[in-house]
Amino acid sequence: MSLRRPPIESLTVDDLCFSVRWSARRRTVGITVKRDGELVLAAPSRTSARRLEAVVREKLPWVRRKLAEFEALGPPPEPRQAVAGELFPYLGREYRLELADRPPQPVVISGDRLLVDRALDGDARAAVVAWYQAKARAYIDDAVARFAPLVGAAPATVVVRDLGKRRWGVCDHRTLKVSFHWQLIAQPPELVDYVVVHELAHLHEPNHGAAFWRRVEDVMPDCKERRRRLRAHGDAFVL
Ligand SMILES: [Zn+2]
Repeated sequence: MSLRRPPIESLTVDDLCFSVRWSARRRTVGITVKRDGELVLAAPSRTSARRLEAVVREKLPWVRRKLAEFEALGPPPEPRQAVAGELFPYLGREYRLELADRPPQPVVISGDRLLVDRALDGDARAAVVAWYQAKARAYIDDAVARFAPLVGAAPATVVVRDLGKRRWGVCDHRTLKVSFHWQLIAQPPELVDYVVVHELAHLHEPNHGAAFWRRVEDVMPDCKERRRRLRAHGDAFVL
């Protein structure tokens, strides 16, 4: 019986270093380029280093393109703390946080300001998140009601939650469940609507093929332009 060498933890290809995460459940090698430039390979257990390198080499132009895109965006925005003076985007407009004494609600928009009850103190951030989530829920429920008949889709479940830093929406066409990131509500309404139509269309077409885009374009002729805009500030997460 031979001693197997321990699996590698990183792989360097040309000038790029990938950290390797092994997974017993994976079947294919996945590559992730993170916003901060970190490169991650998700690999099925026991894939040889030679095979990993071959996969990476094939995808190298894409990896470099992603890295260049992220670099052009500049450093990721600092997360907001929910303190006075910070700007908060909501449906494409910015509101300056102001602490207020007994506003009508703990968090509420007034003119161009986001009023936050001073008494919340250390809980202000959580209250602002809860406010965003409630607004997102209401807007997205309404958008789904508006667009589902146009797309000819009937989702069984609509979820609004945190989808991490890489996705605005996700669709499970087998369970007819569509999920949306609550932070979408920071984007202009036409971009939120685009994500809603996009995910609803996935209920019919799981992949991004021609039939999928036909379906989206039928409902939203300028969908490609909206997609481009969303991608251009796709990392505009607020909190
Ligand atoms: Zn999609």
